Amino acid sequence: MNRFRLPPVLQDIARIFNAAGKEVYLVGGAVRDLILGRDSADWDLATSARPEEVMRLFKRVIPTGIKHGTVTIRHREVSLEVTTFRTESAYSDGRRPDAVAYAGSIEADLSRRDFTMNAAAVRLPQGTLVDPFDGRGDIRRRLIRCVGKAEERFAEDGLRPMRAVRFAAQLGFDLEEQTLKAIPGVLDAAARVAPERIREELDKTIAAPNPQTGFIIMEETGLLKLILPELDACRGVEQRGYHRFDVLDHSLLACAYAAKRGFSREVRMAALFHDLGKPRVRNFVPSGDPGGTGPKGTWTFYNHEGESVRLAEGMMRRFRYPNAVTAKVLRLIAAHMFHYDETWTDSAVRRFLIRTGEDLLQELFELRLADTAGMAGTDPDPGALLPFRRRIKSVLEKGGALSLKDLAVNGRDLMDIGVPPGKYVGIILNELLDTVIADPELNSREKLLGIAGNINKRY
Ligand code: ATP
Ligand code: MG
Repeated sequence: MNRFRLPPVLQDIARIFNAAGKEVYLVGGAVRDLILGRDSADWDLATSARPEEVMRLFKRVIPTGIKHGTVTIRHREVSLEVTTFRTESAYSDGRRPDAVAYAGSIEADLSRRDFTMNAAAVRLPQGTLVDPFDGRGDIRRRLIRCVGKAEERFAEDGLRPMRAVRFAAQLGFDLEEQTLKAIPGVLDAAARVAPERIREELDKTIAAPNPQTGFIIMEETGLLKLILPELDACRGVEQRGYHRFDVLDHSLLACAYAAKRGFSREVRMAALFHDLGKPRVRNFVPSGDPGGTGPKGTWTFYNHEGESVRLAEGMMRRFRYPNAVTAKVLRLIAAHMFHYDETWTDSAVRRFLIRTGEDLLQELFELRLADTAGMAGTDPDPGALLPFRRRIKSVLEKGGALSLKDLAVNGRDLMDIGVPPGKYVGIILNELLDTVIADPELNSREKLLGIAGNINKRY
């Protein structure tokens, strides 16, 4: 098929450009989607019109990336990015293009693009394909191939190897051989890329349907060691007991399961990073089993979650992750080692709830499923957490205090019975909370004031 059927809004926009004597094309991901027969939500256009001209042609235009020749138009409730034809501009610092140079044709514009599958355009309004690098062929072969010489294109912009990885994770495509082989030789260019740009690709990789595909390519090419050395160090770190895999494969399987189930970005990241500390805290405990071949015994990873939190925090700060995302991921990692059984007392359940935070429970349980999936490599029984969930529900229904605001007394009440204003008020309130967590029956005004009076005498 050499003509694509396009939605009316694109035809409409094309008529406006054409009436002004300008060419306009659909480019980027939307063209890939058309060739793959998928719906696309995100339409990027390339045009022979200069940004000033585009701004004159449309009523609602925002100069979103005017430095790069890009404006965003809004037409009939649809937003589209429109970029004037450009040629390859130099990336002298390997970080960002220096300046825009406008190009005279769509072909020149397409030749600056990274991969053949991203270097095809659909002419509007006709719907005909402009495909100078056989992008359609590569899409059908499911291959990610650089436009031109891979070494040169990667050296020009060190982000491109990470983009290749991200597309592999999103689309499930392979890297064409020359493209794959070129990556180890361009790691110095990748090392110069601004962390925020790497983060964007990393984020999209983690959010993709096949994150593990991306991370395996990163490992094979040396990108993982460069960008996430803490994760790379998990390769070959053997575990025993319930684990079938080393720490890296375990982490990738856990993340893959989280992706398969559509869990949040934070759960996926926690799945990827929850065991980062293991290589550092590992200890071998011989079992003294005589007559066996090879060392018998087991590995312990005491308090690895603390070390994982430390390493994940360093990594997420390095890539300038938003604080709220980092905080959630670190809380999940810190909390991932709970071991519930029915011998837990109600107060043990309440302490767990206080330590973890009720708001985190759903995602913590998702992380546990992912963690379990990563041990055996098979899907876990989603019912495994039901007894704990039921127990939590019943403890919550009993209504025991979980924070200071649930206490039957407050600081004012303590001062009224003679506790001096200041830090003792807080100390005593916390002691009362501990008391009530252990025995909810004591959460009455009368009883707590009695206990508070006794504590106050001690100080
Ligand atoms: P998505 O569906 O994720 O938006 P996309 O292909 O549209 O995929 P973008 O990152 O939005 O990807 O980039 C739009 C287009 O711009 C790409 O298809 C590609 O042609 C070009 N492009 C983007 N970044 C680069 C780069 N670093 N080097 C060369 N071309 C690039
Ligand atoms: Mg896009």
